[in-house]
Amino acid sequence: MTSDTKKRINYFYDEKITEYFHGSGHPMKPMRVKMTHSLVMAYGLYKKMEIFRARPGIVDELTQFHTDEYIAFLGKVTPNNADDHLKEQVKFSVGDDCPVFDGLLEYCQITAGGSLEGAARLNYGLCDIAVNWAGGLHHAKKAEASGFCYVNDIVIAILELLRHHSRVLYIDIDVHHGDGVEEAFYTTDRVMTLSFHNYGDFFPGTGDIHDIGYGKGKYHAVNVPLREGIDDVTYKTIFEPIVTHVIEWYQPSVIVLQCGADSLSGDRLGTFNLTTRGHGDCVRFVKKFNIPMLVLGGGGYTIRNVSRCWAYETAVVVDKEVPIELPHTEFYEYYGPEYKLHCPPSNMENMNSPDYLETIKLKIYEHLDRSRHTPSVQMQERSWDKRIVPDNEYEESDDEEMEGNGTNSRKSRIPYVRTYRYKLLYDQSSKDKHKNNNNIHTLATTTTAEIVDQMEIDNIPGPSSADAVVPPVNVAATTTDAASESHTDQATNSVTEDPALAPDSMVDGDDDNKINTTTATTSAATTSANTTNNELSSLSSSTTTADAPTVPAPVSIASPNEVTIVTTATNQESNHLPETE
Ligand SMILES: [Zn+2]
Repeated sequence: MTSDTKKRINYFYDEKITEYFHGSGHPMKPMRVKMTHSLVMAYGLYKKMEIFRARPGIVDELTQFHTDEYIAFLGKVTPNNADDHLKEQVKFSVGDDCPVFDGLLEYCQITAGGSLEGAARLNYGLCDIAVNWAGGLHHAKKAEASGFCYVNDIVIAILELLRHHSRVLYIDIDVHHGDGVEEAFYTTDRVMTLSFHNYGDFFPGTGDIHDIGYGKGKYHAVNVPLREGIDDVTYKTIFEPIVTHVIEWYQPSVIVLQCGADSLSGDRLGTFNLTTRGHGDCVRFVKKFNIPMLVLGGGGYTIRNVSRCWAYETAVVVDKEVPIELPHTEFYEYYGPEYKLHCPPSNMENMNSPDYLETIKLKIYEHLDRSRHTPSVQMQERSWDKRIVPDNEYEESDDEEMEGNGTNSRKSRIPYVRTYRYKLLYDQSSKDKHKNNNNIHTLATTTTAEIVDQMEIDNIPGPSSADAVVPPVNVAATTTDAASESHTDQATNSVTEDPALAPDSMVDGDDDNKINTTTATTSAATTSANTTNNELSSLSSSTTTADAPTVPAPVSIASPNEVTIVTTATNQESNHLPETE
């Protein structure tokens, strides 16, 4: 482990997420992300990082993992027409736990956008750690919603990371097993999944210690099944040695850390007894390895604890000590009567005896030691991270020929180009100009602006066909708005500037407000759409679209979603204020 050096932190937040509502009484409350953000800003953590609003993920991005049919369904079903789609609701497990609500697909696009953009910026070396508390929705499957998760932003972000990284380590400290991510990468050695979770008569029921991966992925899934009531000290005795062992064994070039906060004491659905300090220690510990990291949210249903935890973990990530007394925010009343950053443990019984933990630790070591990691992508050469592509990258594969359709086979060799466009909400270079400003909304609004600075990165290759676990870029045309919008203006990568973002509409007289920019980073990501041995499809129980994947021309970066000005402080009365718990 090397020393902890100064990190460049990118943080993704889109207030629009609070506009979506799973229904009264539903445990998942997107407001927790805004509560977190309020604390992050009030603590002044914005001074130590750059804050972005990511462009929502487009349909083509979501269908890199999910089926077209499933995403199209999420885009068309509404509370009003849900009765017309009863069969599909059953088919895609949308209904009870994962209810239909207005703007369902948009909500998924927003949660995924931050994770995708974080992955992309890590890929291009633009930051060392990217944070998206709205992401981390680890239960979603290829064509099935599960456990309040509809779109698996983690899988999609990992697919993005695989374009530039040879080995991705996924660590999950949610109280629930990270089943959707494990399943997606169960047969590959390019992604190692490590999940610490409550196991035994507990959702989702998977995550046995003997589930270790399959085929090439054997020993690349690690499950740490824990009993109820685990506390900080006990968790540390199992988390730190196993994480160390796995990192040394696997030598990942990037880590995705899912920080589900339902492992905290007193969670509405959870069964563990961790405090915010113990939870945050996990983030601190992983960070010390100095490996680029994507930090995501996840579960967490006692939202006053979730927000405190993630705010604290943001402080850990930016390496700043923050006072235990909570700063004043619009949600201050929810933190009473203590108004403290940290929450104490309860007196619940810890069912994890030292013997039990020692046994599972040794079992996991035994699994790993049984096989020395023999990567399909070489370990010692970091240059692999820059170019993971076969020499025959642009040669036509047999598969393409077999697809028969000459047009498709031709098109499929056009690199899939993702075009990024994000809004910079706060630039750390202007940190000294906002010394006393604790109002996040004013701050965010008055520093919001756009630059157009496109980088064409057409030459960035995708992973090699031999190693790829990237599923086909399954972009067969869908009829959703997002998809059709994204295909306009395909001939060029022109950037559409929105008049709503002109400087005079956002600056309210503060000389310090520099006109910031939205950088439109055009990343080219060739996915070996047809040459990939798609290990994922064979895994999933869901139907795989048989259509030949059509690779789109460069995606226009113009999207109506991007022009929304950040809500100002005067417009915070939300219909979905959290319940006091
Ligand atoms: Zn959970």
